[in-house]
Amino acid sequence: MRCDLLTLFPEMVGNVVSHSIMKRAQDKRLVSIRIHNIRDFSDDRHRVADDTPYGGGSGMIMKAEPIFRAVEALGENRDGLRIIVPSPQGRPFTQGLASELSREPRRLVWICGHYEGIDERVLLRLEPEELSLGDYVLTGGELPALVMLDAAVRLVPGVVGDPASVEQDSFVEPLLDFPHYTKPQTVRGYGVPDVLLSGNHEAIRRWRRKEALRNTYCKRPDLLQGESLTREDQQLLSDISREYECRSGPPCPSVRM
Ligand code: SAM
Repeated sequence: MRCDLLTLFPEMVGNVVSHSIMKRAQDKRLVSIRIHNIRDFSDDRHRVADDTPYGGGSGMIMKAEPIFRAVEALGENRDGLRIIVPSPQGRPFTQGLASELSREPRRLVWICGHYEGIDERVLLRLEPEELSLGDYVLTGGELPALVMLDAAVRLVPGVVGDPASVEQDSFVEPLLDFPHYTKPQTVRGYGVPDVLLSGNHEAIRRWRRKEALRNTYCKRPDLLQGESLTREDQQLLSDISREYECRSGPPCPSVRM
């Protein structure tokens, strides 16, 4: 996976990619991440890369020309690039897209907007994909670009030591993850479900499957809509809904033990 981030704030991005799993992925040469300061491509002697909006109004707009030059300096033709502009107006970013990016043979380029956004002519000429983190507005595209990059990098084979740990994450199937526990066995009076101490692998697998279904049923029932479930999942779900009916109180009981 080859990634380039174009930003006005390289330190902000550089700090995040030089720690933890993103750093390890680069050390192992599974991922290359290069950060480019858009100001370096300004023809202004003060390295200005933004200006006031035509038509008036508040805020500053990132100029088109420094961005075009920064993209051209990558030395790749347009077909060799997958260009992404983080934007609240974009397609929602999902786990499916993270997986797609992790397998992308083209060079991935994120153009991070800031202030009021980017001169529209960047979108007209480069025709990037606009991807959104959600229906809210952040100050810049750096955090969204890092979120997308992080989600994709951990799916590159070899980046996370045990592939099973990413395969069972939330959203890989349309299911949320099951609850996790670690040592010590008792924390402030809270124990660990007995089955996890039993050493019975089949019972543990079934418990985890059931708790993943319970988490999804309680927290994100929309994910289960229209899904064709295995016979085992149907049985577990019907057990879960029966357990709810047997209890008084709120319809969605706490999933904690
Ligand atoms: N005026 C823009 C609008 O309303 O569509 C918002 C500009 S925002 C203050 C500055 C930059 O942050 C955007 O250009 C984009 O790169 C990034 N950004 C803000 N919210 C985002 C979101 N929800 N998802 C992805 N990127 C976002």
